[in-house]
Amino acid sequence: MFFRLLPEVYLVVGKNKSLLQNLVLKKCVWINSRLSDLIKKCENNRPIPWEHFNILKQLETEGWGKVTDTPIFIDKLRLNNVFNEKKFHKDSPMINFATIKLTNNCNLSCDKCNHLFCPTCFKKSGENSSFTLNKLKQLIYNLKFYGCKNINVTGGEAYLCSDFLNIYEFILENEINIIINTNGLIKFKNVLFETPICISLFDKSNLNKIIENFKDFKTVILLAFDVLKTKEKLKIPTQWTFRQATQGEPYIHKNNLVNMDINSFFARKDKNYCLNNKIAILENGDVYPCLGAWKRICAIGNIFYDDWNIIIKNLLQKYWLNNIDNKTKCKHCEFRYACNSCVFLDSEKSCFYDVEVGQWK
Ligand code: SF4
Ligand code: SF4
Repeated sequence: MFFRLLPEVYLVVGKNKSLLQNLVLKKCVWINSRLSDLIKKCENNRPIPWEHFNILKQLETEGWGKVTDTPIFIDKLRLNNVFNEKKFHKDSPMINFATIKLTNNCNLSCDKCNHLFCPTCFKKSGENSSFTLNKLKQLIYNLKFYGCKNINVTGGEAYLCSDFLNIYEFILENEINIIINTNGLIKFKNVLFETPICISLFDKSNLNKIIENFKDFKTVILLAFDVLKTKEKLKIPTQWTFRQATQGEPYIHKNNLVNMDINSFFARKDKNYCLNNKIAILENGDVYPCLGAWKRICAIGNIFYDDWNIIIKNLLQKYWLNNIDNKTKCKHCEFRYACNSCVFLDSEKSCFYDVEVGQWK
């Protein structure tokens, strides 16, 4: 007797337990190490003693695999073309999304500024620099060379960058989509009505002023950093999107494991799902994999002094391709391709899963 998992079913082996993930039906089952070892033998097309017939037949009935009399070949469902992966010349790296911190100036002094785990904006003490249009032009040419189609501009308060409107127009002239991050307390010019706006709300008492300033804007995402409960969001204009965000380190709990579809599975298995194809550039030209990295690591390059080939190589090798299989604790966890753990998160402190015991706390 032989048994093979279906093409869309993957076995993810952990230190203590394992996970079977069906990427088409988007379901999973948590299994013990004995069953996991048995499935590993099956996947190697080893003949299986009849004493295991009942459990394997049950897996077949539940849509995980197939019992057969002879060994069969299974071509696993995957997103990548394996021939492409084996090519001598790899595809060129691309940037999909760039965050540009236009200025360090801000009209606010939020308590947690500089201490947000995943910031949308921040200001460094003692610095007052901003991008100028000329400095930005060269950056946009380079971003375009790497295929960038989406830019998020932020600050400080992005609108306080003295060249803001010229920069905005230049980005659009280059056929790049733009989203503006703001704290919402400065009224924007009418010319920006159609532009997507992301408003970071750090203090509930600012909400009325923000609504007054942006009520007519077409696309607004209100990102509430630990300050609005779901019920209260009803006060915001109906066309706005409401999202909650956290100021501190996020916690990883079984309730926030993610959808097990094929895209999210391979986004975590093959690359770093959060950082892949992304870049963040500060107003002094320093480059990071994301805004949240600036307090945790040294800049990986500077757009005014370093060669872009080196910057992209650093991003690619240290961050884009650095998937969760390289992270201590997580690399032994069967939930690693269903988890939003960030590369900068201390999973020893912030995760409620005990990999050694195989139990959620
Ligand atoms: S709006 Fe952003 S940059 Fe300004 S003080 Fe608050 S957190 Fe800092
Ligand atoms: S943070 Fe790491 S150990 Fe915790 S559930 Fe996610 S992958 Fe597993």
